[in-house]
Amino acid sequence: MTPTIRDYIRTIPDFPHAGIMFRDVTTLFADARGFRMAVDQLLTPYAGIRFDKVVGLEARGFILGGAVAHQLSAGFVPARKKGKLPGAVISEAYQLEYGEAVIEIHDDALKPGERVLIVDDLLATGGTAEAGIRLCQRLGAEVIGCAFVIDLPDLGGRARLEGLGMAVHALTH
Ligand code: 5GP
Repeated sequence: MTPTIRDYIRTIPDFPHAGIMFRDVTTLFADARGFRMAVDQLLTPYAGIRFDKVVGLEARGFILGGAVAHQLSAGFVPARKKGKLPGAVISEAYQLEYGEAVIEIHDDALKPGERVLIVDDLLATGGTAEAGIRLCQRLGAEVIGCAFVIDLPDLGGRARLEGLGMAVHALTH
């Protein structure tokens, strides 16, 4: 039987903390057929749609987002954790289970009116993606879609992003 995306992803118990079932996508990325399948499927809803930029969320969103940007003939913009980007940045904080995290993009990475696709490996609570959306919107860009390999719907991320008027695309749960 032809493998599905799910077959390439493994679950590692108790990483990074006890009780967390971590979805490990390195096995998907390492497999030539699996990686191609993931990138192709991330692109499926966007046939014929023009994007100026793909914004990839650190860190696995860089790997997927770079390949997706190439296929879309779009530019690639990294949204990075605080303090990693060398130029002038704008920042957005978001809540984690314990405490807060901050992501940043260069303040000249997107221009007003540019059409953006946000890409990451996994959607959980949606906090990271929402921060990414806000960064894009603060620079005047239009977020056309958000694409993930994995959606964990019980954690509410899809509902959260759809509540912001976002179209969410995910390949598996
Ligand atoms: P959220 O902000 O939606 O709660 O969490 C999503 C972010 O955390 C994504 O950037 C994603 O890469 C990372 N993440 C959270 N849990 C997992 C997991 O089980 N596997 C992977 N690969 N990433 C995760």
